[in-house]
Amino acid sequence: MTFVITQSCCNDTSCVAACPVQCIRPRPGDPGFTTTEQLYIDPATCIDCGACAAECPVDAIVHETDLPARLEEFRGINADYFAEHPLGDTSPPLLVRRRLPREQPRLTVAVVGSGPAALYAAAELSEIRGVEVTVVERLSEPYGLVRFGVAPDHGRTRLMTERFAPVLRRPNVTCLFGVEAGRDVSVEDLLRHHHAVIWATGAFADRALEVPGEDLEGSVSARDFVAWYNGHPDFTDRRFDLSGRRAVVIGNGNVALDIARLLTQPATVYEHTPISPHALRALRASAVEEVVVVARRGPAQAAYGTAELLALAHLPEVDLLALPGETSTAGPGPDSADGSSLDLRRRLDAVRKAAARTPTRSRRITLRYSLAPAELTGDTAVTGVLLKRSDGTTEKIDTGLVVRAIGFRGLPAAGLPFDPVTGTVPDRAGRVVDPSTQTPLPGLYCTGWIRRGPSGTIGTNRTDAAETVASLLDDCAQGRLPTPAAPSAVLAAHFGKTSRGTVAGRPSQ
Ligand code: SF4
Repeated sequence: MTFVITQSCCNDTSCVAACPVQCIRPRPGDPGFTTTEQLYIDPATCIDCGACAAECPVDAIVHETDLPARLEEFRGINADYFAEHPLGDTSPPLLVRRRLPREQPRLTVAVVGSGPAALYAAAELSEIRGVEVTVVERLSEPYGLVRFGVAPDHGRTRLMTERFAPVLRRPNVTCLFGVEAGRDVSVEDLLRHHHAVIWATGAFADRALEVPGEDLEGSVSARDFVAWYNGHPDFTDRRFDLSGRRAVVIGNGNVALDIARLLTQPATVYEHTPISPHALRALRASAVEEVVVVARRGPAQAAYGTAELLALAHLPEVDLLALPGETSTAGPGPDSADGSSLDLRRRLDAVRKAAARTPTRSRRITLRYSLAPAELTGDTAVTGVLLKRSDGTTEKIDTGLVVRAIGFRGLPAAGLPFDPVTGTVPDRAGRVVDPSTQTPLPGLYCTGWIRRGPSGTIGTNRTDAAETVASLLDDCAQGRLPTPAAPSAVLAAHFGKTSRGTVAGRPSQ
């Protein structure tokens, strides 16, 4: 008997440390760890102890006898991984116990943001005796991407908040919610009150399509749409026209699939999820039955996870379709599923099956490949999308709703360098650097999407944050951190903070 890692795996690797026989792969540092779509359990070595399942923050690990039909294929997905990647060394990973240097028994760190990258960093730092962390979050509630970016029907992934909540309650963690770094408090000010600042604000801006018609009514950014249906306070007043039968989603990542699922499934599916009430009302009245998901490149280069694609084929009331002529198209660029060629084969197989499927339902998601958006047509509002193939021929898909889901980018902040091309803060091993000299800027660090761009799963941020924290602690040990001019408590008091673990509001002016 064995346990099986399934669709909602977040790559957080909490399970790896728990496994007494070290049969979960890939581990941090293994080849392919940074690109793997999920972790896998070797069924030949697993001793069925259940320790990993207890540690998994998103309940992705299931005993094989409890696998529901929709997750059954993950039994083979786990086993097959080891056909290509033999288990090898099963010695346990080294446990690194961190402590502050004797000559600096106290360290204060401001962590800007409260999404997964920020809270993995806060968690790691606040475990160390003598470290005090101030979490600065512009919204009145924490969790960033986990709260406002994860699809409402991905309840297991949202469980991650339960893993992070105790971190925010630790006695050496101060929360300043409703405080925007860069507006209410400058980077300079944060550094005046802390030994170090970790910038972890994520990537909350859209990449542009850069085609005519992009600004027409009915052309919608995925960022706005996702924030709206997840109840982000900045987007509650938005309205989206769901009166047409067909919508087009441009993009080929997990966000594109989340939106396609949301728009095609019956609203009843979302009734007992944390979807915002205004979005649920709109879905109940929605006429959308078909979503066309358009990718510039071929299925081999898609950025979505294979597990997410496989899940689309199991939606009870939606047909997953593709066009036979487009499934064999490799498209330009390298394959994206480089974590495992099995992932790639499964993905191509799923697309071929979609192309062979005879539609039986009116609700459908159609995957289209190797089509470059050339124009969003219409006078004041979108009436269609003009797409161009590599041979120069074009095709127009009629629609009044186009969701642009081609990726996110970070936003610059006063007092921090910024690379406008990548939309990230330039860094070396998590140390913010001056881009012209590559010299680290004392006391400034970054982690998560603002550091590496919008890639990986939620758990990928754990490894990312660990590297940044390691650099910070190394600098602390080497005496490279600036000495703050004032205690962090002074800043907290300025923002109305009276005791640790409570939430501060904006200061009165
Ligand atoms: Fe390892 Fe036990 Fe999980 Fe099997 S059930 S993968 S032995 S922790």
